[in-house]
Amino acid sequence: MRLGVQAALVEGRRVDGDVSVADGVIAAVGLRPTGRRGIAVPGFVDVHVNGFGGVDFLTAGPDELRRAAVALAATGVVAFQPTFVSAPPPDLRAALDTIRALEGAPGAQSLGVHLEGPFISPRWAGAHDPSSLLAPDPRLARELCDAGPVATVTLAPELPGGLELVELLAGRGVTVSLGHSDADAATAHAAFDRGARAITHIHNAHRRWAPRDPGLAGAALVRSDVTVQAILDGVHLAPETAFATYLAARERFCLVTDAIEAAGLGPGEYRLGGRRLLVDGTSARLADGTLAGSILTIDAAVRRLVDAGAPLAEAVRAASGTPARLLRRADLGVLRPGMPANVAVLDEDLRVLRTLVRGVEVHAAADPPGRPPAR
Ligand code: ZN
Repeated sequence: MRLGVQAALVEGRRVDGDVSVADGVIAAVGLRPTGRRGIAVPGFVDVHVNGFGGVDFLTAGPDELRRAAVALAATGVVAFQPTFVSAPPPDLRAALDTIRALEGAPGAQSLGVHLEGPFISPRWAGAHDPSSLLAPDPRLARELCDAGPVATVTLAPELPGGLELVELLAGRGVTVSLGHSDADAATAHAAFDRGARAITHIHNAHRRWAPRDPGLAGAALVRSDVTVQAILDGVHLAPETAFATYLAARERFCLVTDAIEAAGLGPGEYRLGGRRLLVDGTSARLADGTLAGSILTIDAAVRRLVDAGAPLAEAVRAASGTPARLLRRADLGVLRPGMPANVAVLDEDLRVLRTLVRGVEVHAAADPPGRPPAR
């Protein structure tokens, strides 16, 4: 099958010409174009997404989960980590069991759950329900890991037992990300030394960077072994903060959406972890104004990074190669012959035209009005 594109981003380099796919794998690039449009890029990987298209991953049933996985593919996502905010352990266990409905389901592929909490700091709870936060508890952590496919845990390493919990989870192959945390730089370094590998939504919901107290963000930005996750929705970070962070992290800079169920829908009233949220045209907030996730889509985050001045290849990498490397998924985030065809096709405005997961088309945009149809 030919993709009918004008070019492809092949290992970060633009290669003119069409792309062919056979048996779920990229067969060839640089083929004589067939006159259609768009550029094929590695499909996007969102490691932090709480919900999408009216579906909240923590509370959804199997059919809703599968519907959201298909809907996410329309934003170029080929793989994602359904993310649960802090909730009572029985709710987490139940959701970890239900999420198995995504195994082998059509649409974007689930990479296992990102547990954001409950072992996070009450000082930086953000929109998490304070009554659901817990001190690090190795037994509960093991139980949750046994209850379902836990792939990533966000925790606050400065809590009593926090560093031991980092070690325990990293030892089980769980990706540990630090966030919702009051850690100073020394504690953050200690946690990274013990196996933590990322920072969750940098500059949001953790100890602020001060001249002589750089905290978690400072430690994360100067370490070549740490992936820096950021929400580029134009609300969570000022443009300067976002771009300075990208410049500091470069190939470690990782776009996430932190989207909630309202993403892909309109303004209104929604829920996250059982709490009521108000969504306007740009943000989701608790009644007191606290930001509560986002309504961002990952393709919009890529466009925002390009608009800020990043080269297309780097903006795409921030949403594909970098998260794939964090999760040690060699089958994702790379477009080249011989690799699984996990691909997004973007038009000249970087909007998603098609999405393929292992060579299967899971999304195709209708030709927008006013444009000549593909020839
Ligand atoms: Zn958060």
